[in-house]
Amino acid sequence: MNTLPKYRFLDLAEVNAPYAAKLREAACRVIDSGRYIGGHEIEQFERKLSAIFRAPHCIGVSNGLDALRLSLMALIISGRLSEGDEVLVPANTFIASFLAISHCRLRPVPIDPEPDTMVISGRSIANAVTSRTKAIMTVHLYGRIAWDDEMAEIVRRHNLLVIEDAAQAIGAVSPTPGLFLSNRAAAIGHIGAISFYPTKNVGALGDAGAVVTHDAQLAEIVRQLANYGSAERNEYIHKGFNCRLDPIQAAMLSVKLDYLRSENAERFARATAYNNTISSPHVITPPISNSPTDCVWHQYVIRTPLRNQLRSFLLENGVETDIHYPIPPHRQPAFSELSSYHLPVTERLADQILSLPISPGCISVKDASDIARIINQFK
Ligand SMILES: *Cc1c(COP(=O)(O)O)cnc(C)c1O
Repeated sequence: MNTLPKYRFLDLAEVNAPYAAKLREAACRVIDSGRYIGGHEIEQFERKLSAIFRAPHCIGVSNGLDALRLSLMALIISGRLSEGDEVLVPANTFIASFLAISHCRLRPVPIDPEPDTMVISGRSIANAVTSRTKAIMTVHLYGRIAWDDEMAEIVRRHNLLVIEDAAQAIGAVSPTPGLFLSNRAAAIGHIGAISFYPTKNVGALGDAGAVVTHDAQLAEIVRQLANYGSAERNEYIHKGFNCRLDPIQAAMLSVKLDYLRSENAERFARATAYNNTISSPHVITPPISNSPTDCVWHQYVIRTPLRNQLRSFLLENGVETDIHYPIPPHRQPAFSELSSYHLPVTERLADQILSLPISPGCISVKDASDIARIINQFK
């Protein structure tokens, strides 16, 4: 039985098919321009990002992990963080959040998320902040804003730095104001990272990412670090890296960014159809608010104690699913130093979560209702 399931979890060719003509045109533009590093495409792309995030400084970089690492390094170089400082981070995030902290010789301190929203809140960090806590990396996991009044209050009271891992949350808007002049995911805290990995809500045709900040000094350092640590030609201020964004990806992304709102609205419509139709007593659906922007539904994640059985049942019925993520970072061999942490919410979630198809390129709103009805047949 080698046929594809009727409902694919994700098919990137289908995701990009509606944009194919414009992508080809943009690719040709770059080919003919002779400008393959930096230049007009990058500048135009970064201006688009500034409008989306309502933040003055947006820097295209190589990928989301590098965006996180450059953000943390800029905080270190500017003297706001130092080696060994503790950074709170949700334990149920993708491993890249942890990797970035470790690579910068900072200490990740994993904390449990709220069991219902699966993101951290002020309540989750209230008891975790100690005198060693210098920063919090909040992760808008699955596209859901992880920022609230209580978190803002704790951050201000303890003078914490806020780094946002907004890799999954482009276009999400926080009901609670950010620390500066924007409430857009990635622009809420001191510095934020976006990923344009092909499977993200806005995906490049390869690797790409961005750093977002209101802080001119941090922005300047990130720009320099991404370009060998250079301020101007032949002058190197930092021991930097090569983490630049390719103009060809900037051109691809400039096409797709114009559809950010409508794509996210399509995701919200699918999430709403799932939530309105799933009635299985075995399944807990994710909370959904009336606002289509508190969560941009990068993933639609249900919980069930019968996860593996439901997953097999769905596959037998033509529905492909995925798990984000089956093993949390503190249970990975790479982070054996964190293995003594016990994070009951995260560990339970890892056994119970199941991601249903949500990509507008792969399933329609009706498909979502049909998949929900298949779930309701699960005994
Ligand atoms: C995808 C992702 C990253 C890393 O982005 P890349 O572009 O793949 O390097 C970081 N954090 C989270 C939460 C992600 O989902």
